[in-house]
Amino acid sequence: MKSFLVNLFPSFMVKFFARAYVTGVGIDCGIKKARELWEEQKIASTIDMLGEEVTNREDVDKIVQIYLSLIEKLHGESFPKHVSVKPTSLGIDIDKSLCLENLENILKRAEEEKVIITLDMEDSTYTDITLELYKTLKPKYEFGTVLQSRLHRTKDDILNLTGLNARVRMCIGVYNEDKSIAYTKKHEMKKKLVEYTGLLLDNQHKVDVATHDHKCIVAALKQIEERRQGKDVAEFQFLLGVPRQRIQNELIRRGYTVRLYVPFTIEWKCAVAYLRRRLIENPSMIYLGGLDFIGRIIQPITNRRRKPILPPQPDSSS
Ligand SMILES: Cc1cc2nc3c(=O)[nH]c(=O)nc-3n(C[C@H](O)[C@H](O)[C@H](O)COP(=O)(O)OP(=O)(O)OC[C@H]3O[C@@H](n4cnc5c(N)ncnc54)[C@H](O)[C@@H]3O)c2cc1C
Repeated sequence: MKSFLVNLFPSFMVKFFARAYVTGVGIDCGIKKARELWEEQKIASTIDMLGEEVTNREDVDKIVQIYLSLIEKLHGESFPKHVSVKPTSLGIDIDKSLCLENLENILKRAEEEKVIITLDMEDSTYTDITLELYKTLKPKYEFGTVLQSRLHRTKDDILNLTGLNARVRMCIGVYNEDKSIAYTKKHEMKKKLVEYTGLLLDNQHKVDVATHDHKCIVAALKQIEERRQGKDVAEFQFLLGVPRQRIQNELIRRGYTVRLYVPFTIEWKCAVAYLRRRLIENPSMIYLGGLDFIGRIIQPITNRRRKPILPPQPDSSS
């Protein structure tokens, strides 16, 4: 029923909705946006390719080639170079060793070009294998992965990273999961996101706090600043198109890296198919997109407010 309703949306409407979140068609669109964000606002980015469902070896090879070209094309760029990849795009559904080989090729090339990679996390059927890939390759390459605070298993997953000096993007997770394995209320997921931010830091990992929720950002910031481990142990990440300019500016002024997820597509029809699938999995994205649309309109007005969103920094001398 859900898929029937989502498929009723004409492609041009999905494309209209997507325009704020997707930079356009081709690698160059992603690079151009990343360059602009850095030059104009000192906002870093992680470039990602939105792909169609990958079902065969040929498609996987094509995607790996696109990622390798993206890394090549970043050569000579002066903004912080960062790329996100998904295990399903690298062939995890076809063969585990193929995916490992593809990821390692990307990591090798990225290391040569000083590009940092993050291995995204998909639904819970991929959690084990994604963490296995991460644990296998992290001792050889400097890269990050993602954990989702909605999953009951996440605390154990953090404790099982001990000794790896990991870099973990901490988010609530975008995939709906069964209540037997996951929290189903957003306030619970966000409480856990804050708790796990502290736990990651206590275990000598770096944390990328990925949420748009003001209260959650403030609470995570408190965990970070209470520990007095410096500003480079954590950064704050947002999706391109979600209007959070004020809090981003304040975080940058406070000395933190702010990074946006900057996707490009290889064809609009791929992006539309991808977004349809995400809407079917999680129809609340329609509501979130509506909130963003209003937010982008009122952003210039709210930006004029003088009162800071973030609490004052703790006194570094005490
Ligand atoms: C940089 C980054 C990388 C991510 N990587 C992953 C990943 O690898 N795996 C994974 O499962 N999840 C990933 N996510 C998604 C994340 O798990 C959440 O689904 C998403 O950030 C929404 O949660 P929230 O904490 O912002 O809170 P919410 O309460 O869900 O959202 C707060 C506000 O943010 C805006 N918003 C949130 N989500 C969207 C959306 N999808 N589209 C448009 N507007 C939105 C809306 O204005 C909303 O009101 C990532 C998020 C970010 C920012």
